[in-house]
Amino acid sequence: MILIVGGAGYIGSHLVKELVKSEKVIVLDNLTTGSRSLVDSRVDFIEGNLGDENLLNKIFTQYPIKAVMHFAASSLVGESVSNPFKYYKNNVSETLTLLNSMVEHNVKNFIFSSTAATYGIPNMDFIDEEHSSNPINPYGRSKLMVEKILQDFSIAYGLNYVVLRYFNAAGAHESAEIGESHDPETHLIPIVLQHLLGQRDKITVYGNDYDTPDGTCIRDYIHVTDLANAHIKALNALLTELKKTATYNLGNGKGYSVKEIIETCEKITGIKAKVEYGDRRAGDPSRLVASSNKIYKELGWRAEMDLEKIIESAWKWHNR
Ligand code: UDP
Repeated sequence: MILIVGGAGYIGSHLVKELVKSEKVIVLDNLTTGSRSLVDSRVDFIEGNLGDENLLNKIFTQYPIKAVMHFAASSLVGESVSNPFKYYKNNVSETLTLLNSMVEHNVKNFIFSSTAATYGIPNMDFIDEEHSSNPINPYGRSKLMVEKILQDFSIAYGLNYVVLRYFNAAGAHESAEIGESHDPETHLIPIVLQHLLGQRDKITVYGNDYDTPDGTCIRDYIHVTDLANAHIKALNALLTELKKTATYNLGNGKGYSVKEIIETCEKITGIKAKVEYGDRRAGDPSRLVASSNKIYKELGWRAEMDLEKIIESAWKWHNR
């Protein structure tokens, strides 16, 4: 049985939908940002906090858990700058409680959702895992702290782990039953699509004076089902003992500017957007694009869906 912490959130719920095909799954989620309706009906669901030691004790005692995947985190760069306490509490302190409980119950396999924000301002066009880690916002720092904790736990307690550093997750499940929705929404693709559906009167681009060809920030967008499949490959590697510890980037290896995202959304929907240019958002590096060669070489994973497929799937879901 696999414990999915944060399995009612955007990425966690997509993972669960794929993982239930091959494994028994239990989801722990406090539903602050996740939603019960996103959780596949075939799994055991427990509403609660990952920092709740008593609850974790119960779960690890009651269920034969062989691995934990941890998706539950606060993940907004801008918010992390204005409210760092929330990020260090939710992302670091509570994760430490979870890891400690795993060690106490001899649960040895862990898959951690990390982020490209751990790199900071990149000094290479395609960031690989060897790139230095100098995060420029508390969100990135909180994730990097957990990566360090994992290294120490591995040495001291024999914890096996895979760290997956996501670039920009986007898109929706092919069934259009689940997709990306946050309240309030802050992510670019859902904001653009909500605008094109008439749910927002305009799009504000955060800065057009970056050192990029069109002046807007460049990101590497990856389909959420591609992310889910990478987790399953990582889990299989951990469970078959191919890998004891590893860190991988998950991206498409292609960068798109904010302007290009808006243009692609306009093309796919056939609707023209109303765009205004605003100030830069705190904590945003100008360009984040992955090299995902390492996971391709070691686990045979690579992203299958390009930007058009990502936006088409998101559009289909938004229209439901
Ligand atoms: N962005 C923007 N307007 C918005 C939302 C986002 O210009 O309304 C930009 C943001 O500054 C960043 C990119 O779009 O450069 C992707 O932001 P998002 O919040 O989707 O993901 P992040 O890169 O923060 O994980």
